[in-house]
Amino acid sequence: MTPLSAHAASYLAAFGMPTFLAVLGACWGSFAATLSDRWPQGRSIVQPRSHCESCQRTLSARDLIPVLSYILARGRCRHCSVPVSRRYPLIEIASASIGLVSGLLLPTPDSFWVAVLGWQLLLLAILDAEHFWLPNRLVALLAASGLGVAALGGPERLLTALIGTAAGFTALFAIAYLYKRIRGRTGMGGGDPKLLGAIGAWVGWQPLPFILFIAAMLGISFAVYEAIRDKGITKSEAMLQRRLPLGTCLAVSTWGWHLFDMMNLTVISAFSAVS
Ligand SMILES: [Zn+2]
Repeated sequence: MTPLSAHAASYLAAFGMPTFLAVLGACWGSFAATLSDRWPQGRSIVQPRSHCESCQRTLSARDLIPVLSYILARGRCRHCSVPVSRRYPLIEIASASIGLVSGLLLPTPDSFWVAVLGWQLLLLAILDAEHFWLPNRLVALLAASGLGVAALGGPERLLTALIGTAAGFTALFAIAYLYKRIRGRTGMGGGDPKLLGAIGAWVGWQPLPFILFIAAMLGISFAVYEAIRDKGITKSEAMLQRRLPLGTCLAVSTWGWHLFDMMNLTVISAFSAVS
């Protein structure tokens, strides 16, 4: 290999994967934004094609480039100039960032799987935050993909993942059951124990208490923020609004933990390769 092509190869290795994951993430974000908008309303994902909600014109390919179309059209419909919801570019940016950050912080092929976890969690986080809904099918997909990735790592990793799945579900199910028995009302959604089970398939059983703790801290911080913001409203209004999407908090803490865990593993293996 000539020095120039060696240079190009290392350049590609360093920037190719993050760029690829960022672009893939932006496209997934576009799909996730549409899915999380239409599915809870019982609408089809494919029909009708994406259109302006105001003038009903069908959007063409140039209107559907993630983030870029929004910026070029200055956040408005090209035909009727009505402002487009910021929800779409924000979800696309979040999804692209998940890919970019995975690729930049993990210079190994594992970055792809970390991004896949992040993209699934993002969709679940949006649905739970907006609709308090964690669809069984998506949670099952999360569990299946986690077990699949664990199986690639060998029988020991698969066993840890299987224990993680059982432990995650059982622990949160038990907490929900006890809460209901003691307080006489439901404290969390039925999807939350299933989600923690699926998370266990990705991270194993060991970090589950930590992930749950961080999720609870995120939830409490959010509740405190809302309490301060909603000072003026009546107590019953506040009670209604202050239902916490635990699934969203779990999604955020899980991805953060998994990313740092994978970074540590990469550093450790790099050190042992050098020494
Ligand atoms: Zn329009």
